[in-house]
Amino acid sequence: MATAGKVIKCKAAVAWEPNKPLVIEEIEVAPPQANEVRIKIVATGVCHTDLYHLFEGKHKDGFPAVLGHEGAGIVESVGPGVTEFKTGDKVIPLFISQCGECRFCKSPKTNFCNEGWTSTRQDVMSSEDSRFTCKGQKILQFMGTSTFSQYTVINQIAVAKINSSAPLDKVCLLGCGVCTGYGAAVNTAKVEPGSTCAVFGLGAVGLAAVMGCKSAGARRIIAVDINPDKFEKAKVFGATEFVNPKDHSQPISQVLSQMTSGGVDYSLECVGNVGVMRSALECCIKGWGVSVIVGWTDMDNVATRPINLIGGRTWKGSLFGGFKSKDGVPQMVNAYMDKKIKLDEFITHNMALDEVNDAIELMKHGQCIRSVLSVSLQ
Ligand code: NAD
Ligand code: ZN
Repeated sequence: MATAGKVIKCKAAVAWEPNKPLVIEEIEVAPPQANEVRIKIVATGVCHTDLYHLFEGKHKDGFPAVLGHEGAGIVESVGPGVTEFKTGDKVIPLFISQCGECRFCKSPKTNFCNEGWTSTRQDVMSSEDSRFTCKGQKILQFMGTSTFSQYTVINQIAVAKINSSAPLDKVCLLGCGVCTGYGAAVNTAKVEPGSTCAVFGLGAVGLAAVMGCKSAGARRIIAVDINPDKFEKAKVFGATEFVNPKDHSQPISQVLSQMTSGGVDYSLECVGNVGVMRSALECCIKGWGVSVIVGWTDMDNVATRPINLIGGRTWKGSLFGGFKSKDGVPQMVNAYMDKKIKLDEFITHNMALDEVNDAIELMKHGQCIRSVLSVSLQ
């Protein structure tokens, strides 16, 4: 390609500082170094974790950065030592890597990988390396990916090659939200046929969790959200009942316990609020209830009385739905192509990269499920 080996100047949405709108800038993207892949991002979703970094986490060392971690694109060029990818391959950037070599990658018990930013810079939410500069400054790559940029450079351990006929403006959602929620139900909670589940928070992550509970054969799927506008959408993915905590004077965990004669078998917290995490645990049935924390926050401690766990409940967390990323993402892309999972139904808005601040506002106000931004022409 004409651009291989050269610095590419392109458009990106830069988060210069917390709490401020992103700014569309021209950035310079360096050529890929050893084991790296430069990717033209075609489409990206906007996930709540982008908003978390900007408005909630606000880690001072986490800026300036290019946000976005739910994208899909095409390989533009590869650095020395890359044999797995070539120019023109369709790929999904992975915010959690799979090096295949570390003790975590070698264990079937986890999808954690010791090589990416998650092992050293989880608080700052960016990788040590960045191939971006803008106005003479280094710009961080949020979650090692930075999909709000027309081009990005990623180590090959954090890139998945996908089906060459996959529509990138749909499968981008498998880069985060849909794999996260679906896998949290199927891989982490290990929902069983005939069970009763509760899903707290009906954004894309929660709706994907509903979809996972349904595909695992759950009999009752109780969808919980404080925004009743989300309930119609939850039905599409398999929710059987709806509860708005605001309609009840009792704590939501008691409401759910009463509805289910003692508690649900599985609950999934897809909000990112420690109070909701507690409710999700406590609405589980004692003896065997399993509650999974999916929502992302590092701001507060979670708490419950020990007796709630002594009595036999299990509290778990799930990162990227427990999927080993390089293996799982291509499989999920094929599941979509084979019509085994839904993706189109999550997308409520299609916009251009320039409209990223509008997409952020929509999510802040609960007015979208997923906005997909078109970033580069294919
Ligand atoms: P979203 O903003 O689209 O959805 C969140 C939903 O929670 C909204 O519908 C909102 O109305 C609802 N909500 C808010 N307060 C509530 C309450 N008290 N009770 C019930 N519902 C409530 O967000 P999303 O993109 O779907 O992401 C959801 C969470 O998952 C975020 O915390 C995000 O950071 C996290 N996340 C985690 C991972 C992971 O790997 N663990 C990956 C992606 C996203
Ligand atoms: Zn995300």
